[in-house]
Order: sequence, then structure tokens, then C-alpha cells
Amino acid sequence: MAGPSSIGGSRILLRKLREIMETGGEAQQRLDRLVAMVASTMVADVCSIYLTRGVFHELFASQGLDPAAVHRTRLKQGEGLVGLVAETAQPLNIADAPHHERFSYRPETGEDPYMSFLGVPIVRSERTFGVLVVQNRVSRVYGEDEVEALQTIAMVLAEMVASGAFGDLSGLSEVEARASRPELLVGKAFSDGLAIGVAVLHEPHAPLGRVIADDPVREEQRLDAALAKVRQSLADMIEGDPGRISGVSRDVLETFLMLANDPSWEVKLKHGVRAGLSADAAVERVRGEHRAKFNAARDHYIRERMHDLEDLDNRLLRALAGVDGATSQAMPENAILIARELGPAELLDYGAERLKGVALEEGANTGHAAIVARALGVPMVGLLPGLLSRVEAGDPVVLDGERGELRLRPEEQIVSAYRQRISLRSARAAEFARLKDTPAVTKDGARVALLLNAGLALDVHHLDEAGAEGIGLFRTEFQFMVSETLPRLDSQTLLYRDVLESAGERPVTFRTLDLGGDKVLPYVAAEREENPALGWRAVRIGLDRPALLRYQLRALINAAAGRRLRVMFPLVTTVAEFDAARELVDRELDWCRRHGRELPSGIEVGVMVEAPALAWSIPDLQGRADFISIGTNDLMQYFFAADRGNQRVSDRYDILSPPALRFLKRIHDDAEAAGLQVSICGEAAGRPLEALAFTALGYRRLSMPASGVGPVKRLILSLEVNKAAEAMERLLRTRAASVRAELTAFAAEQGYEL
Ligand code: PEP
Ligand code: MG
Repeated sequence: MAGPSSIGGSRILLRKLREIMETGGEAQQRLDRLVAMVASTMVADVCSIYLTRGVFHELFASQGLDPAAVHRTRLKQGEGLVGLVAETAQPLNIADAPHHERFSYRPETGEDPYMSFLGVPIVRSERTFGVLVVQNRVSRVYGEDEVEALQTIAMVLAEMVASGAFGDLSGLSEVEARASRPELLVGKAFSDGLAIGVAVLHEPHAPLGRVIADDPVREEQRLDAALAKVRQSLADMIEGDPGRISGVSRDVLETFLMLANDPSWEVKLKHGVRAGLSADAAVERVRGEHRAKFNAARDHYIRERMHDLEDLDNRLLRALAGVDGATSQAMPENAILIARELGPAELLDYGAERLKGVALEEGANTGHAAIVARALGVPMVGLLPGLLSRVEAGDPVVLDGERGELRLRPEEQIVSAYRQRISLRSARAAEFARLKDTPAVTKDGARVALLLNAGLALDVHHLDEAGAEGIGLFRTEFQFMVSETLPRLDSQTLLYRDVLESAGERPVTFRTLDLGGDKVLPYVAAEREENPALGWRAVRIGLDRPALLRYQLRALINAAAGRRLRVMFPLVTTVAEFDAARELVDRELDWCRRHGRELPSGIEVGVMVEAPALAWSIPDLQGRADFISIGTNDLMQYFFAADRGNQRVSDRYDILSPPALRFLKRIHDDAEAAGLQVSICGEAAGRPLEALAFTALGYRRLSMPASGVGPVKRLILSLEVNKAAEAMERLLRTRAASVRAELTAFAAEQGYEL
């Protein structure tokens, strides 16, 4: 091929393309001229455009195939080589098309003699509009330059379709160009809250009308400026404080910076710009290549690198959007971030001030970004099917992190209903804020300690905001989960010291690593287990491989030098396991003493009651443990034999049922008899009705997510606990599968604030 194999050739091709598009005339004529031009420039016997209408790919224009087939040949979704290209959204370049397993013969097109086939998707914003094809009689594989040239044309075509430039083309209205209807996407709530805003794409696209450059020199300058900006921001991150909050280690950032400085990346980008693409379109094309390589690669290392490169492409596109006067800080104030997946560091990069909410096509509730979103108080909804192909940058959206829904381009009534819900929520939040310095004491004088569940340094500011008395559960595994590598002793120490310092006088109970089950570390190869929740997890790992646990204990002891240290172990099943774990604490204290380290001023060692076997061993813990804390999330999953993470069964049984409540009462009474301080730290403690039940059973220490503190405090202040305890006595003797309704009715009768 003579033309597009060189930069000059590509530029000519883009110029011709532009002339065709700008000369006006009917859309069909322009498409006809386009296929003729491509066929002649690429020395192809055939050039065809298929656009997707409903479930068909329809031949809209062709040079070389029988003209009578245009608008008559329709391939079903997935049918033929065209269907394959549309389905995979990847180019297909083959020398012997008729023998390909997906080849579909259409006699009306007269295509029998064509051997070689090159098809590229016409795709924009994850939406595939159709397929652009060239064919030749002779058997050959098209060169890389030719594939690139055809992709560039497809990019321009996609842009024309999306911008409505072919509005007058018959049947095009069915080629869904730009979604404008309201849509409701139902996913899963990952982080609570509501937000009204506009969609901002984490993986942006070249703005409409900006694929072909007006002024290549200026485009190159824009590209240079954006590259410099991306490199600088990475260098700043390395200079800053890596790892401390985001868990992104210096090594990772350095690899990133190295890739950003790699000349071959820059050369590829410049190639696109010099060929006549806008800087944005050039980046988008390179990103397409990286993604294709990522999808094709099996090797873990190559996939990682390609993923990093794609991430850099995205950073560059965002920088480009900001280079023209405005900076990327100029993101709209009410931005709702739309992404396929998001890493915790990326979320922290945007920062809570700039984001109203996050919507993900994939993601997981236990995923690291979700953990960080909850810590930041940013609503997040995930597992939204088809999200990226349905939303455009700038679309108005409503994010519902209570129900796990996203509304695209909503009607005005919906928006105003959400405005009301948001103002109700903020009125409630203001009411809770007024209570934050009031101690939680019932009307009849019982004091209930309300504590916080936390997991990141970011969470600790909730102590003041929510008005909690301390941290009843600090989940140390979060630091391990959001890191890309195993956190070293000093970064563990740093985090624990930060937490203790921010908490000041208020006590903090650290829980040692609770890994396994659904908490897996990407950098630790784990064996697949048939029943992970019943498997090798938490303290079982810690006791079998004590190095990790001892390191963590050493970090905790170092961090608490001169202060009180409270530490507890997760998922202990037998008293012997607790003794073994406690022995490790003593050994570490000994080690620190021998090495002349300053020790904590006092140390309390406790245990989580999560395994029913331990729940029946409370008297035996007397004199061994200093306190116990009940993890109802796990305790109830084992009690009811119902997986807490399996939606089909997780809500099937109610903690507010007589057997569960009798069990909890038994644990409380045994702990009291053994002189053990006892608390509840499962999620249930943060729900007012459950908190009512627990206080009625005698519990006086509840640890919960920050969002629960206000509502539970309001309940406690309205409560007469002696009356509630009498009512509970009665309810415990009933046979109902749940006493939820009765307890709610009792609370209403008494005027308790649920
Ligand atoms: C629990 O099991 O109730 C608990 C608090 O621990 P986690 O939710 O971290 O397993
Ligand atoms: Mg647990």
C-alpha cells in the first residue's frame, strides 16, 4: 500500500476524509464517497461499512461488493467475520477469509473471490456502532500501518455517527448514536449516600469534534504540555508520602514514572499527532492498542505492564482535557466518577472534595476502592451492567448508594425526589452532629459506650465527627489489602502510631490480621479452598505462619510505646489457640524489652468471639483474656450456617430471633460472671433496633461503623433500659422466627427513637 504506510500518507488520508465529510451532500453519498476513497487509497478491492441496527449489522455502503446488496445484506449479531469484529471490538486481519470458522457466505454480495479481510470496529465510548472492512482478492495479511490507518478512519466514522452528522441517513436513527433517554441501572451499593451530579469518565474519550486536528503543530504542543504534566504529577507523588495513606508503594510509583518517561510511548503518540489526529485521538488510539495487548496477553507481568500503560493513557487524556486553560482541578463540582474498575490509589487521587460519588461497571463490595470510598464517605455503587456503553461524559446522573442504583439522564421528578431525600439525610446528619458531645446514657441512667469500627488512617477523623468514645475494632488487614506489596514493619508501625495519635486519649482496639475468607491479598498466592469461610484464615494463618503475626505484633508494640495497647485476635475457636496467640505477644514484648525498646504503658489482650465453639468457652477464658468482643457478622454466619456474603441466604435468618438472642444473652452473662469486659462489634451494633435488643440483653459496649453512631445514640438517649430488658425477657421465650416486628412495636409504644 502506497499511501498510509507513512505519516505523510496518513495525513493525506485524513485530509481526504475531512474533505468528504465537509463537502456536505446527502449522508449516503458521503458514505459512498468515503468507501471509494478508502478502497483507492488502500489499494483494496472492497471497502464496506456495516452499521449496527438493532440485532443486525447492515451493509450501509460498499465499494466493490454488489451495489444491490447495500441496505439488503444484514448479518445477525455475532454472525460472520463482521459479527466477530463487532463482538470482540478488536481488529481482525486474516489472509484466508473463506476458510475462517466464522465466515458466513452471502451470495448477494458477490464476495466469493476475496481472500484477505481486514475489519475494524467503529467504536466510541465503549459503544460499537458497526464495522469497517477492506478486502482483497489476493491472499495477504495487512500491514500494521494499514490496520492503524483503517482504525483511524473508523474512529472518525464513529465520531460522525455519534455527533449525528449522518442524521438524514435512512435507518440511522435505529443505530443508537447517543443515548438520551432516562435509564435506570441496578447494581449493588458499596458505599452509602446519595448524589446528584454529572458523569465524569475515569477513562475519558477524545471530545466530539476533535478527532482530526486543525493544527498539527498546536496539537503537538498540547501533547507535550500534557505529558509534562503527567510526569510531574507522578514525580510529585513519589516526593510526597507514598504508602502512608494510599498504600501505593514507592516501587510501584517509580515503575509508573519509568513507563511515563519511556520514549517509545511518546514516539507512538507523536506519530498519531503528526499523522493528523488530535492529541486526544492519538492517545485514545494508543490506549486501544494497549487494551488489545492486555486482552491478548496471558503472561501476568505483561498484563500488569499493559494495565499500567492504559492507566497512563487515561491520565494523559485527563491532563489533555485540562491543558486548554482549565486544569483538571476544574472538574465539575458535582462530579460522579464513572469507571469500569478503580484502584484505591486512583480514588484517593481524585480526593473526596472533588467527587460526589462513584459508579463502577464492575468492582466488589469487599474491593479496596469500596473500602476507601466508605472511609472517605463517598457514595459508591458497583456491578452496574453495561454502564460504560450507556453513559456519556456530562450526562446528568443520580447515584443512589442506599439502594445500589444509578439513574442516567433522569426526569425532573426523579431529581426533585432525590433532592428531598438528600435534604432529609442532611437534616438527620445535623441532628446527629448536635448530639456528638452528649454521652450515650439511657433515660434510666445506664451508660452505653459507643465505639467506632475503622480500618484506615482516614477513618479516624470520624471519631470527632460522629462523637464516638474510641475505636472498638480497628481492622488491620485493610492496610494490607489496599497495598500493592506486603506492608513492611515500618509502614505498619507508622499507620498504628498515626491512628493512636489521632485518637489521643480515646482507646483503640487493634485486631490482628484477619486474612482469608473473602479477604485475599493480590500479592500472596493463596490455595483455592472449597469453603474459604471455614478454611485457613485469620488467627489460623497467624499461628501456622507466625512470622507475619509476630511482625505485626512488633509493629503494634513499637507504635504504642509509652501508651496503652489493646490488641485482639480474630476467629479464635479454642482457648488453646488464644493461649498460643497470647504467648506470641509475650514473646514480642520480651524481644522489645531485650532490644531496649520503650514498651507500652499497659497492654490488654482480647479475643473476638466469632466461632460458636469459643462462645461456649467463655468461662475458660477467665484469667487468660482481658476482654472479648463479639463479631456478629461471622458469629451469625456460623450460627445459622448461612454465608454472610451470599445474597441468597445472608438475609434469610434474623439475628433478632429468639435462638440468636438467647445465644447472645448467654455469652453476655458468661462474660460478666467471668469478669471479662464484653462488647459487640459486628455491623448489627450500628442499627438502632438491634442496638436496642443488645442493650436490653445487658450489653454496654457497642462498636459500629461511623454512620451508626448518631442513630444509635439518639435511640439510647430515648430508652429506658430496664423496661426494655423486661420486654426482652418475654420475647426470648417466644417461638417466632423473628421478634423484629414485636420489638419495633414495643419501641414505638414506648416512644423510643428508632
Ligand atoms: C465480625 O465478624 O462481626 C467482624 C466484626 O469482623 P469482620 O466483619 O471484619 O469479619
Ligand atoms: Mg469477622
